[in-house]
Amino acid sequence: MTMIIIPTAEMMEAFGVALAECLSGGETVFLHGNLGAGKTTLVRGALHGFGYSNTVKSPTYTFVEHYTIDDKEIYHFDLYRLNDPEELEAMGIRDYFDDNAVCFFEWPENGQPMIPEPDIEIEIAIQDSARDIQLSAISSDVIACIQRLPKLLR
Ligand code: ADP
Ligand code: MG
Repeated sequence: MTMIIIPTAEMMEAFGVALAECLSGGETVFLHGNLGAGKTTLVRGALHGFGYSNTVKSPTYTFVEHYTIDDKEIYHFDLYRLNDPEELEAMGIRDYFDDNAVCFFEWPENGQPMIPEPDIEIEIAIQDSARDIQLSAISSDVIACIQRLPKLLR
């Protein structure tokens, strides 16, 4: 487990940019944290890290925003308002998880059991204007990469 303190929203975006370096495709990333914790801000940074330069909208009402960036498909889910996980099946969610797709989930607990196990879990806690991030990963490659992230941010 890696722990990082993020003092500002700009740093959260920079953290997302750095995290993108650790995602080669095929990963599922769970983002936990209250409303306003900075989950969307982090994903916005990651999308910029992958090379996307347009506006990143929160998928609060659409449940998912899809981006094609070079050879990657990025799916950004926000399941806060999802009442029934079966709705994900109707959206064709099974087709989303392949080797070149990276899937980010805000409020993943609302999608269980329709979504895969995470490769990376990120827990964001609000500490006044700062945020404490706890990161854990399953694969040793990703663990090695995310352990370098605090250094990349300095
Ligand atoms: P979530 O998706 O978790 O609900 P958002 O990323 O949409 O949260 O919003 C986070 C809000 O908190 C933004 O308005 C952002 O500017 C603000 N903020 C303030 N300090 C920080 C910080 N250290 N890290 C991330 N966001 C921060
Ligand atoms: Mg959000």
